[in-house]
Amino acid sequence: MRAAVLHAPGDVRVEEIGDPTITAPTDAVIRVSAACVCGSDLWPYRGTEPIQAPMPMGHEYVGVVEEVGSDVRTVRPGQFVVGTFVAADGTCEICRSGYPSSCVNRVFMAQVGTQSERARIPHADGTLVATPGTPEEDLIPHLLAASDVLGTGWFGAVAAEAGPGKTVAVVGDGAVGLHAVLAARQLGAERIIAVSRHEPRQKLAREFGATDVVTARGDEGVAAIKELTGGLGAHSVVEAVGTQQSMQQAIRSTRPGGHLGFVGVNHDVTLSGEELFFSQIHLHGGPAPVRRFLPELIDLIWQRKIHPGKVFDLTLPLDRAAEAYRAMDERRAIKALLRV
Ligand SMILES: [Zn+2]
Repeated sequence: MRAAVLHAPGDVRVEEIGDPTITAPTDAVIRVSAACVCGSDLWPYRGTEPIQAPMPMGHEYVGVVEEVGSDVRTVRPGQFVVGTFVAADGTCEICRSGYPSSCVNRVFMAQVGTQSERARIPHADGTLVATPGTPEEDLIPHLLAASDVLGTGWFGAVAAEAGPGKTVAVVGDGAVGLHAVLAARQLGAERIIAVSRHEPRQKLAREFGATDVVTARGDEGVAAIKELTGGLGAHSVVEAVGTQQSMQQAIRSTRPGGHLGFVGVNHDVTLSGEELFFSQIHLHGGPAPVRRFLPELIDLIWQRKIHPGKVFDLTLPLDRAAEAYRAMDERRAIKALLRV
């Protein structure tokens, strides 16, 4: 089959690799309909994260089940499925408590690769959710968004306790941040402040439900959010970048007693214990337990109540994956979809 493979920083090639097979009775093999390039794929692509080349890429996917192992009960061949970026058994104590992304038997799909014609999905029962039927073509980008970026933004908003009466600030205007805005709106937040310096992203943030836009970053960004919240800071803040500056901005923008949901994958972030102590905020985050939200998200998409696929502003065939990576790397695209 054809798959996107990273050979060295900046060098993604689509080439023939071996077809996946069922290796455990809990596996499924799917034919991928669409995959996409994630902000976190850019860390190995840029060489910021060590790679073991050649490395199959991708962890977001939707597709049709082709084959299942003998222990798989909840999905069957022919069904259209949405999967998550962490394969989880769905049965361990951590999964049952709502944290499948920290399953004791988890497999990161990034280690499997899904920017390919087919993919082996470990723990199919705990990882895949079948849609009510074969989706209309135009629903596919929205369902694909649920695989990671929507689910991650949603978790950020839930972790930040976004809800009625709350002012929510979202630091980060990538796909996850934009989806955190969408989630905050769905969860009933009263006011939603998006932090963004890029006009097309500001526009999409407003379409997804942002009521205010702050363009400043760092301490100026904190001051702008405080100014909009009577000097107190937001009740709920979602951090969707993962850098030192964005984490500090998010912490300092949260009012005492407020909640910060941090879902940007942290790289080289160091926090001051003293600052955390005196901030008096609730912190919750990490790799999003997307599988927990997937049935609800699929339902909202199926009923056409949310349109998260609007974050895809570039669609290319799988064979042109290298162009998709370049566009994301140069921030010419918010998010690139790969049709398989
Ligand atoms: Zn588990």
